[in-house]
Amino acid sequence: MNPTPLLEKARQLRADFPILSQAHPSGRPLIYFDNAATAQKPRVVIERLSAFLATQNANIHRGVHWLSQEATHLYEKARETVQHFLGAASPEEIIFVRGATEGINLIAQGLRRAYFQPGDEIILSTLEHHANIVPWQLVAEELPLRLKPLPLTSAGAVDVSALPDFLSPRTRLIAITHTSNGLGTRTPIEEIVAFAKAHDIPVLLDACQSIVHEAIDVQKLPVDFLVFSGHKLYGPTGVGVVYMRHPWGRKLPPYQGGGDMIVRVTWEKTRYAPPPAKFEAGTPAIAEAIVLATAIHYITDTVGYDFIQAYEAYLTDLAEALLRDVPGLTLYGTARPRGPIWSFNIEGIHPHDLGTFLDSWGIAVRVGHHCNQPLMDALGVPATARLSLAFYNLPEELQTLQEALLAAVEFFHKPLPSLRHE
Ligand code: PLP
Repeated sequence: MNPTPLLEKARQLRADFPILSQAHPSGRPLIYFDNAATAQKPRVVIERLSAFLATQNANIHRGVHWLSQEATHLYEKARETVQHFLGAASPEEIIFVRGATEGINLIAQGLRRAYFQPGDEIILSTLEHHANIVPWQLVAEELPLRLKPLPLTSAGAVDVSALPDFLSPRTRLIAITHTSNGLGTRTPIEEIVAFAKAHDIPVLLDACQSIVHEAIDVQKLPVDFLVFSGHKLYGPTGVGVVYMRHPWGRKLPPYQGGGDMIVRVTWEKTRYAPPPAKFEAGTPAIAEAIVLATAIHYITDTVGYDFIQAYEAYLTDLAEALLRDVPGLTLYGTARPRGPIWSFNIEGIHPHDLGTFLDSWGIAVRVGHHCNQPLMDALGVPATARLSLAFYNLPEELQTLQEALLAAVEFFHKPLPSLRHE
C-alpha cells in the first residue's frame, strides 16, 4: 500500500484541530495520544458551538417565540442526523443523554422496573468499562441479578466460544463493548448478535470506542440498545446518545421525571410523553446535541469512514512494529480486528512513572486502570500505559513515542549512583 495519499489527507485534516498546533510547556510539540479518553475538536465544532450560543440560544419545546422555535428545530434536526448516522428507523429511537454512562444507567433502570425478574442473568465480558458494569451491579443488588462476564482469548478478545456455556434459561440480556477501551480489541459482535437473536435475547452495545473508528448501521447489526458519548466522537462533552430500538422505548418507564417528558400532570396521575421525550426530562444539553450533529457531519462528509479505516490500519501496523522494538515492553491484547488502542507496560517501570516521563516529552498517554479494573485483574496487573490514536495522529509522532520509550528504558534502568563516600 502506498501511504502517501493517506498521509496527505491526515496532514490536511490535522490542520482542522487548533489545539494540536500548540506547544507543550516543555517547548516540544504536543503529541496527543489520549484519544480514547476524549477526542480533540475540529474548528467547525468549536465555531458551531460559539455561533449557536451567540445567535440561536433559547430553551426548546416550550416557547412560541422565534428563537425557541429555531433552537427546537435545530435540536430535532440533530436527532435526525444521529438517526441517519446509525441507520435507525425513526427519530423516536434516538435519545439524547449526558453521555454513555448516563445512557447505560437509563437502560438499566428502565429494564429493572419493566423487564428483569429476580434471579435473571446478564452476560457481559471481561473487557467492560466500569460504565457497563456498575449500573448493572446497582440493579443486581436490588433484585438480585447474576452478572456473568465472558472470558478473553489469550490475544485479549472476547471468547465467543464460551457463549453457549454462559447461556441459561435465565439469560435476559447481553450487554457488551464493541471495542475495548483498555486493549483496543474488537468484540466479534456479529456472532454475538446472531447468537442472541437465535435465543431471543436483547443486546446492548457499548459503541463508545468503536463508532470513532467504524460506521455502525443498526439495520445490519440489529442490536436493541446502543450507546456512545459525543466527546469521544470529536463533539462536545455533556451529550451522548442512546439508540433504543422500537418498541423498547414504549415498554420502558422514564428514567427521570420533570419538565418536557409529560403529556399531562395532575396530582392524581401523570401521563408520560411518548419516546424519545419520555426519556429527556428537563432542559437537555441543547447546544451540545446540535454541535454533536456538526461533529457527525464532519466525520461522515469531510473525513469519511473509509479514510479513517485505511489510515488507522496503516498507523496500527506502524505503532505495533515500533512498540515491539522497545526492550522489556509487554503489549496486552494483540487480537485483530482492533481499534488503534494499546495497553502496555515496560518491565521495571511503573506506568505512572512512564506517563510522567512521556509527559516531559510532550506526549499525552493515559496511565492507570482505564475504568477497567476487572480487566486489569484478569491481566494480573494494577495498571497499564495506554496509547490511543485518532486520524489526526502522524507517523512521526509514533516515532517520537518510540524514542521517548527507549529513553525511558535507559533512564529508569540506569544504576543509581552510589551514595557511599569512599
Ligand atoms: N464505555 C466505554 C467503552 C468507554 O471507553 C467509556 C469512556 O471511556 C465509557 C463507556 C463511558 O463514557 P462517558 O464517560 O463519556 O460516559
